[in-house]
Amino acid sequence: MSVARINTSHATLDFHRQCIQTVREVSGSMGIPIGILADLPGPKYRLGQISGGAMDLVEGQTIFLNGDDNEGAPGSAPVRPAGLHRDARVGDDILVNDGAIRLVVAAISGPSIECTVAIGGVMESRKAVAIPARTSTLPYLTEDTENALEFAISEKVDFIGLSYVRSADDMKAARSFVDERSPGSQLIAKIELRESLDNLEEIIDATDGVMVARGDLGVELPMAQVPGAQKLIIRKANEAGKVVITATQMLESMIVSATPTRAEITDIHNAVVDGSDAIMLSAETSIGEHPIEAVKVMAEAALEAEKTIDRDALESRWEALEKSVDRAIAYTACWTAADQGSKAIIAFTESGTTAARVSSFRPAAPILALYRDPSAGRRLSLRWGVIPIEVPAFSSIQWMFHEGSRIALETGYAHEGDSVILVAGMPVGASGNTNLVRVIVLPEPEPRFGRERFNDLLVQE
Ligand code: PGA
Ligand code: MN
Repeated sequence: MSVARINTSHATLDFHRQCIQTVREVSGSMGIPIGILADLPGPKYRLGQISGGAMDLVEGQTIFLNGDDNEGAPGSAPVRPAGLHRDARVGDDILVNDGAIRLVVAAISGPSIECTVAIGGVMESRKAVAIPARTSTLPYLTEDTENALEFAISEKVDFIGLSYVRSADDMKAARSFVDERSPGSQLIAKIELRESLDNLEEIIDATDGVMVARGDLGVELPMAQVPGAQKLIIRKANEAGKVVITATQMLESMIVSATPTRAEITDIHNAVVDGSDAIMLSAETSIGEHPIEAVKVMAEAALEAEKTIDRDALESRWEALEKSVDRAIAYTACWTAADQGSKAIIAFTESGTTAARVSSFRPAAPILALYRDPSAGRRLSLRWGVIPIEVPAFSSIQWMFHEGSRIALETGYAHEGDSVILVAGMPVGASGNTNLVRVIVLPEPEPRFGRERFNDLLVQE
């Protein structure tokens, strides 16, 4: 795994804090940078506390949902945050727990929504409530969302998952809240509503990455439309050079079974080949019976799929991207690596952007991302094909070349006589630009300045 996701819609912040701590301890002791993605609740209705924890509903029965978040009369369930009674219309379907339970609105009186049960079942506290026909009128930053944002920022998570984003305005609301407290945090827009699909391009423009959130999309859209939506989201994100995660039910059967289905393996394969940077497990690893097996199965299927990615499509990837000097240099690095049969592309990356740019071309050679700031390494954990390696600061460009050569040899990705491609942004230490490509036939000799001088400079930094 490369990233751990926590979902602040479930469990307590204390529980999440412990999870984050555990991930960081293990990641530190293993020397593998693992990013943390914390998902926010977003403008989404959920059931509040149901007395007794759950209610058994049978078809045809009447039940009341209370839209002002108060407990209401016996036989009624609270919905929070307040407002569902303003969004609902008589005749609307209300889906609880992603459609496992379906209610039909019979009447609305004040905050009380009278419903007839169309599909029954056990209705538990905290389950999601949605009216697929309507867009929620809630502001993006609800109280729960603000609390979760404060938490994510104070825990310094690497990525913040914006659930139920509807528009660039929602992105802006979250972005300005985050930027006031922790500028530069990476935002992942979860595409899970009809409206987010309608506004896909403006959302992609405003975000650092997107998630194909198939769980909710499958409630919002006819399920047969979800695969098409997935392919569209992946393509648009690829074209913008933004990270894209494909999520939900990828190995659903492994929640209880020790082996996956053929269809699940095929789904993982297609998600990778279509251009996902990352693929995600949810219930499989949070409450499933075979969490470790599920991760292994997923990793194996993804590695196999990567072998079939079209690596000769560099030029069409370049054509699809908006042009810039940074991208041209990243493209040149990939093109030269392919042309020269280079064994690795070594990206010196301050903030992570140089390696990310290289990754968006899906080159055949492995991408070794050499970074100094651990947060840059973690930020790269979501990017396709990037192998993050922490390095010390470099006093000069010659030392940078030499270190790149040394690491390529020591990690075994290349041998003496092989060529590797170096790509970086000058001046050393400045972040955000990619403007230098060099071909090195290994090994690159040690520069004339001695190691001591190098160390002196390091200490000064
Ligand atoms: P969730 O998001 O797991 O937070 O609901 C992903 C999805 O909807 O697929
Ligand atoms: Mn969701």
